[in-house]
Amino acid sequence: MEPSRESLLPGTFGEAALRGARARCPRCGEGSLFRKWLKPRDNCPVCTLDLTHQSADDFPAYIAIIVTGHLLAPLVIAMVRDWDMGPAAIFSVLIPLALAMMLGMLQPAKGAVVAAQWWFGLNGFRRERVALEPAAPEEHTPEEYEDNPRA
Ligand SMILES: [Zn+2]
Repeated sequence: MEPSRESLLPGTFGEAALRGARARCPRCGEGSLFRKWLKPRDNCPVCTLDLTHQSADDFPAYIAIIVTGHLLAPLVIAMVRDWDMGPAAIFSVLIPLALAMMLGMLQPAKGAVVAAQWWFGLNGFRRERVALEPAAPEEHTPEEYEDNPRA
């Protein structure tokens, strides 16, 4: 049986962001989010979500820079203090590593930012949530009530 469109919706913001970070549509988790490396599709090929509302701008680059910087800082400290490496050796390790990390992080960061925009209904995205089942009323027996009148 084909799952209903609503059953494909993510339950939490984290789930939506993870779908985006894995380059999947945040709404259905199935369709690919990008048609090129950093170029999102106009529509999800599976659920037809209109992705033209996305405008991640420079935010994915900021995320990549901040994460890369924080991950490499202890390495730089170790190279200088513990391993006593010279500047040429440090830069020959650091620059390729930083470039690889930042380039590798751009697409997941952009996917997560697009997913966040969709989740919060920004820039023309329609905010969609899984409908919660109404909670069943709790049943109390008269005996329970007599044992504990405050319940
Ligand atoms: Zn989709």
